[in-house]
Amino acid sequence: MKQYQLESALLPQGWARECTVTVADDGIITHVTSTLDIAPASGNASGPDVKTGASTSGVERVPGTAIPGMPNAHSHAFQRAMVGNTEYRLSARDSFWTWRQAMYRLANRIEPEELQILATQLFVEMLKAGYTSVAEFHYLHRQKNGAPYPGTNGLWEAIDNAAEIAGIGLTFLPTLYQTSDFGGKPLKREQARFAMDTDVFLRAIQQRLADRRHTSRVRTGAAFHSLRAVPLEHLREAALQLRGLDAALPVHIHVAEQLREVKACKQQTGRRPIELLLESGLLTPHWCLVHATHATAEELEGIAAAAAIVCVSISTEANLGDGFFDTTRFLKAGGCLCVGSDSQATVSPAEELRWMEYQQRLRKKARAVLAAETEPHVGTRLWRDAAQHGAQAIGQPAGAIAVGRRADWLVLDNTHPSMVGATAQSALDHLLFAGASAAIRDVMVAGRWVIRDGRHAAEEDLRGRFARLMNGLAAPERDS
Ligand SMILES: [Zn+2]
Repeated sequence: MKQYQLESALLPQGWARECTVTVADDGIITHVTSTLDIAPASGNASGPDVKTGASTSGVERVPGTAIPGMPNAHSHAFQRAMVGNTEYRLSARDSFWTWRQAMYRLANRIEPEELQILATQLFVEMLKAGYTSVAEFHYLHRQKNGAPYPGTNGLWEAIDNAAEIAGIGLTFLPTLYQTSDFGGKPLKREQARFAMDTDVFLRAIQQRLADRRHTSRVRTGAAFHSLRAVPLEHLREAALQLRGLDAALPVHIHVAEQLREVKACKQQTGRRPIELLLESGLLTPHWCLVHATHATAEELEGIAAAAAIVCVSISTEANLGDGFFDTTRFLKAGGCLCVGSDSQATVSPAEELRWMEYQQRLRKKARAVLAAETEPHVGTRLWRDAAQHGAQAIGQPAGAIAVGRRADWLVLDNTHPSMVGATAQSALDHLLFAGASAAIRDVMVAGRWVIRDGRHAAEEDLRGRFARLMNGLAAPERDS
C-alpha cells in the first residue's frame, strides 16, 4: 500500500487541493481524502525546493496538477510503421482505399518480433502523451502464408509482451474478420492473415478470459472488424455467445467510417450500417462504435439511447479523409464519446480533444462549442468525460481518480511554459490548447510510475531497435 499527496487533482466532483490518495498493492485506489477547493494550479505554490518523490512519513508528495490518465479506446499497433510514410501521392485519386492497400502491404510483412518492437515503441509514446491504457483492435492473426500459427499465436503474444514492457494498461480485442465486403464476398489474397472462424474466435476469447491475463491492468474483450468483414448473422451469433461468456465484455466495431461503406451496405441490405446495428438490438453500454462518421441524426440518437459509446480518432479520420463526426449533436443527445489513436497518425489525447472542439468551431463559426452548462471549461469537460467513457469502452477500472478505480494518472508540470498562468480550472485548457503533451512530467499506471520527468526506463534501449526495424521496413520499398 502506498500514499500520495497530490498538490492539485481533478476528481470526479471537481478540482481538489492537497488530496491524499491511498493505493493498494494491486494498483487500485482505496481512499481519497481531499479538500474540494478550487485553487491556483500555477505559480509553484509548494515552493521551489519540493520535488516529486519527496516523502514525509511514508507519503509521497506530488507537486503539480494530477489528472486521470486517458484510455486509448482504439489502436492498431502495427500501423505505427506507416506514420509519415504515406503522405505523398500514391495514385491519381488518393483516398482511404488507396491508403488501405499500402496498409495491407505492411500487414503482410510484419513478423511477431517486429510487431513487439513496434508496439513497445508505440506504447511508450502513448504513455508519454498521456494515454495510460490501450484497446488493441487486433486483426493480424495468421502467418505470412495465411496458415494459422501452430500453438501460441506469436502476433497476439507480441502485443501482450509490449504492453508488459511498457507498463501500459491493455484491453486486447481479438478481431473477427471473415469477408472482404457486404454480401459475404470472400477475403482477398492480401487479407489472408486476418481470417478467423467464429469457433476459433470464441474459443480464443474464452481461453484468455480463463487464464492469468485477467489482472487489474490487462483485460480481454472482442471486436468485429466491420459489417463488411463480418456478415450480420455471424456477428449476431458470436455476440450472443460472447455475452454468455461475460455480460460486461467490451465489444468494439468499426462502423460508417466511409461513405462507400454506407452505400454498399444500403445496396446489399436496404439499411445503413448503424441502422443495422441498432435494429439488431445487440448494442449495450459495453459496445464501442468506432468512427460512426457518417451517421444520421436518428442514428446518433439511437446510439445514445442504447448507451453505447462512440470512439472517434479525429487525427486518423482527418489523415484518411473520412469526414466529420457530428460531436455537438451526439453530445446533445446524451451520447458518450471517447478517443483513440487508431492508425497512430497522431498519438496524443490532447490533440484529439483539441480537434474535437476545433472541428465544431470551424463548422459553426463559434468558440467554446463543446463546453457544458455544468462545466464551462472546454478542456476539463472533454478530458474528464473522454477519460470516464474511454474506461467504460475498454472495460478497465480507470478513467478517474476515485476509490475503486486504478491509480492511472498524469502529473502536469505547472512550471512548464505552456502551463504558467493557468489556474486549476484552466489547467486542462492549457494542456489541450497551449502545449499538447509537453507539460506531462510524470505518468502512473496501476500505482507504478512509468514515466518520470518525461522519460520511460525502456526508451534508450528501444531507440536503436526501433530505428533498425524502420530502416529495414523502408529499404525494399525504396529499392523496388
Ligand atoms: Zn481502426
